[in-house]
Formats: sequence, C-alpha cells, structure tokens
Amino acid sequence: MIAIHQLNHTFAIGKKGNEKKVPVLRNVSLDVAEGEIVAILGKSGSGKSTLLNLVAGFMSPDSGTIQVNRQEITSKNETEKSNFRLQNYGFIFQSFQLMPGLTAFENVELPLKLQGVKKVERQARVKEMLTQVGLLEVEDHYPNELSGGQQQRVSIGRALIGKPSILLADEPTGSLDSETEQEILQLIQLLNERFGITFVIITHDEEVARTAHRQYRMHDGAITEEAHYVS
Ligand code: ADP
Ligand code: MG
Repeated sequence: MIAIHQLNHTFAIGKKGNEKKVPVLRNVSLDVAEGEIVAILGKSGSGKSTLLNLVAGFMSPDSGTIQVNRQEITSKNETEKSNFRLQNYGFIFQSFQLMPGLTAFENVELPLKLQGVKKVERQARVKEMLTQVGLLEVEDHYPNELSGGQQQRVSIGRALIGKPSILLADEPTGSLDSETEQEILQLIQLLNERFGITFVIITHDEEVARTAHRQYRMHDGAITEEAHYVS
C-alpha cells in the first residue's frame, strides 16, 4: 500500500547565500501493507515528521520514490497531491488541531461540508462516526469543553469521515496522560480491525510503538531496525 524506496532529504539552514545543507533523511526504505498498523519509532529530531510530510506530499524529497496505492507521490503537482490527500489520507496530530469555534459534531462534519455532501447525508454519517469514536453524548461540546482524550477522538472522527484508506498520525498520544493514551491506542486498534484502515503512527514512545503490528526504528534520519510483533 505504501512503498518508500531510498528516500533522501536535506534541509538548508543558515543565512541565505551561506546555507549549510543538513541531511535529514538518509536512504530511507520501508513498506506498509494494507490493513497494517505500522509504527515509526525514533527520538526527537530523528526525522520522523519530515518522513510523514514527504509521504503526505507536503514537501518533495531530494531523491527516492514514494508509492502509495500504486501512485507515485513525488511526480505529482501540487493540485494532484492535494486531491490525492483528500481521497487517500486522514491526519491526526499531537495537538488535535480542532476548530475552536465548532462543536465536536461540527468539527467531524467539516470535511463533508467542504466536499459538498448534502445535509441529510452529513447528519447520518457524522452520527455514525461519533458512535464509532464514542462521542455521541458530547457532540454539542466545544473543544475547550472536552478532555484531551475526547478532543483526540474528535480529530480521529474528522480524519476518518471522508473514508480514507490510510491514517497518518504524528505523535497521536503525545499530549495525553498514560490512561488516556491507552484508550486512544485501543480505539486505533478497534478502527483498524473494524474498517481495515491502515495506520502509520510516528512516535518517540516505545510503549506506543509496541501496540503496532510492526515497527521501524529511526535514528539520525536512517531506518536502523525493523521489528515484528504478533498481536
Ligand atoms: P522528529 O519528528 O523525529 O522530531 P523532524 O523530522 O521534525 O524530527 O526533524 C528532523 C531534523 O530536521 C531536526 O534536526 C530538525 O531540526 C530538522 N528540520 C525539520 N524541519 C526543518 C526545516 N523546515 N528546516 C530546517 N531544518 C528542519
Ligand atoms: Mg516530529
């Protein structure tokens, strides 16, 4: 489903005209199969978010290939990448990134509104999604009236409402206490089993990575290890 081959990326840092090129990803190759939960584990600064941004098509790599659902991401233009993201990816982040002026219901509904889905269908789909992520009773609450775990459930609902095949998660439990972290990890496993959604989770936390089907370890921009866990 995702096949990354020999990915290299550098950032230019420092004053213009006197930039230094800093390698951030070095020959990164990895695969994710359909229906898998894969964790990419590495310390802060090891290049995890850069890798995810490249897979999402927010940036272009210096070299290497990224195939997702049999399409080459690196050869798409910005419009094609944007359409590809809408059709294939959901995103969740450490900081939830909810719209503060919208209720839980409205946050989950927003992607459908942007797609022009009619109100009756929106209502039904959002209700169903709120049920799946366990939020029906707080659907009228605003983000600041929800716990961290509830806010992350809203962001998962919003990420999944457009029926993406792949969910990209950047430190999804990084802002949560350990009990809530377990709750969210269980929800991810449930959604994976129930709907076959593929999850790529990047994390610095061994315990989070252990709940994945498979994990890669990153160090200084390179994949150093692949471990298998039978769950
Ligand atoms: P991680 O997500 O594993 O913490 P990142 O991918 O965010 O790591 O960053 C990897 C390295 O690249 C870090 O040393 C960081 O400082 C550097 N970096 C990230 N983004 C940029 C950027 N836009 N410009 C320059 N350097 C960057
Ligand atoms: Mg990061």
